[in-house]
Amino acid sequence: MSSDPGSDAVLLLETVHFAAEKHRNQRRKDPDETPYINHPIGVARILSHEGDVTDVEVLQAALLHDTVEDTDTSPDELEAAFGSVVARIVQEVTDDKSLPKQERKRQQVEHAAHCSRQAKLVKLADKLYNLRDLNRCTPVGWTAERVQEYFVWASEVIKGLRGTNPVLEEKLDQLFKQRGVQL
Ligand code: NDP
Ligand code: ZN
Repeated sequence: MSSDPGSDAVLLLETVHFAAEKHRNQRRKDPDETPYINHPIGVARILSHEGDVTDVEVLQAALLHDTVEDTDTSPDELEAAFGSVVARIVQEVTDDKSLPKQERKRQQVEHAAHCSRQAKLVKLADKLYNLRDLNRCTPVGWTAERVQEYFVWASEVIKGLRGTNPVLEEKLDQLFKQRGVQL
């Protein structure tokens, strides 16, 4: 029996394969230099496993969410491979790399509330994954202050994403509370 190329399982395998090829040579910032692909897979799994998200386009966008920002992938390439909805969600969660870092971080806070519900879900899971990663171990060269500043900034972004997924928001709030970040 041949598989249906439009089935959710086949789509997700095509998507994770595409992301793995794009992030092939990248590593996370932790001391073990974990393969980068662990992050987008983990973000998609937070959505499916903890957030109860079954919308396959959201799960695909989660797998692809850092490809445009961090690899040579173009929005047109994503649209041709995965369609306009997935490409649009990824675009919504992609920072403008031509801007200075502090401005990009300010824009994330400002833009959060204006994203689609699908993009808000990806952003919630992305932040949850990164904050857990920071609790697991400190990236090379980071001080405790820098980690704390990241939590404070993430809490500002999350303010604009509230009312989207109560389970993920509660888990984020627990992490902010542990750090003494005022909500
Ligand atoms: P970065 O943007 O440089 O790094 C955080 C990003 O790295 C995450 O959003 C994540 O993005 C990615 N990432 C890769 N590996 C990991 C990992 N193991 N754990 C967590 N994230 C990982 O950090 P910031 O510039 O945001 O720095 C945090 C704060 O520190 C800022 O508020 C800034 O003001 C301050 N700062 C301090 C400096 C200092 O030397 N004291 C220098 C620069 C900033 P993705 O999801 O895309 O992978
Ligand atoms: Zn990410």
